Amino acid sequence: MNPKIWLSSPHMGGTELNYIHEAFDTNWVAPLGPNVDNFEKSIASFLQEDVHVAALSSGTAALHLALILAGVQAGDEVICQSMTFSASANPIAYLGAKPVFIDSEADTWNMSPALLEQAIQDRIAKGKTPKAIIPVHLYGMPAKKDEIQAIADKYGIAVIEDAAEALGSHINGKMCGTYGLISALSFNGNKIITTSGGGALVAHSKDLAHKATFLATQARDAAPHYEHSHIGYNYRMSNICAGIGCGQMEVLAKRIEQRRAIYTRYYNKLKGIQGISFVDEPTGYFSNRWLTTILVDAEKTNGISRETIRLALNEDNIESRPLWKPMHIQPIFASAPFYGDGTSERLFRDGLCLPSGSNLTDADFERIFAVLDKVFG
Ligand SMILES: *Cc1c(COP(=O)(O)O)cnc(C)c1O
Repeated sequence: MNPKIWLSSPHMGGTELNYIHEAFDTNWVAPLGPNVDNFEKSIASFLQEDVHVAALSSGTAALHLALILAGVQAGDEVICQSMTFSASANPIAYLGAKPVFIDSEADTWNMSPALLEQAIQDRIAKGKTPKAIIPVHLYGMPAKKDEIQAIADKYGIAVIEDAAEALGSHINGKMCGTYGLISALSFNGNKIITTSGGGALVAHSKDLAHKATFLATQARDAAPHYEHSHIGYNYRMSNICAGIGCGQMEVLAKRIEQRRAIYTRYYNKLKGIQGISFVDEPTGYFSNRWLTTILVDAEKTNGISRETIRLALNEDNIESRPLWKPMHIQPIFASAPFYGDGTSERLFRDGLCLPSGSNLTDADFERIFAVLDKVFG
């Protein structure tokens, strides 16, 4: 059996262990310390805006705290992109709030601004203004943020940006992670850079970022004993994980180049094949191309579907994966309201994520392309 080729595996830059050794040498083996501070500063500086960052144990934790800080409470409605990873929607349920799902549009595969506005009007007509909106930048492609923000502003609803997959993506130079009231980043093992597991909350407001850190460290009031006037969480990032993050930040720009080069490589390989399509960057949009994704129209490929390709790759121990299954057709969210036109269901039916790790070798690509040649032979 050939060795496994993963969809997106961790790719160390080389200096991560220096930061970890430093943490051991100085005994900062705790969920705070110099690496945490440096990592937060380094993210803020990468985002090129006056933002404040709280490093956390996961992107999911960041979304959970973001919703709390946006004032979401039990019984509130929160609008969420349907086509996404479940971690975008689960924190709504943690709070006893109710998700309302919105379909994708075809240009970016992200939240449709038209359906968003329709949904808001309908929810208001039914008696309730949604409390927050969670758009997602799938696979690194920015959502239509200006349009979404304009609608959110019109109805006075907070935007919580799920930028877990989009560190380094931007629209006309404005970075994903700086849109909306609060943004969430993820450094899970499969993301463009990793801390093994981790995330960050980003806010323009220093006060909100401080509150996030306060809630993430068990909400301890200032007192010599343990005094609490809020429910707290244990969501802070460890100084060891942050050490990995500090090393990874040194190679982030290179990782973005590498991921984009992988996209181009697949694009050049497959662009001539009838029935295969890619998602282009709209004018002014820049995707980090976290994962390269294709749509396979079986009616134009002589019956070759995304499953044909996935199974053929799997046969050679190569991992690929269908696009995110939309939340509105997940059993756990089946009863949630949904506003859509079938776009995300079509994307889920036809879409495939191809191996996209920045550590893929030429030999890996030879194997992947040999399988694709065989399928389309
Ligand atoms: C990875 C991811 C998250 C969650 O991040 P974790 O760090 O794994 O908790 C949230 N939303 C999206 C879209 C993601 O891809």
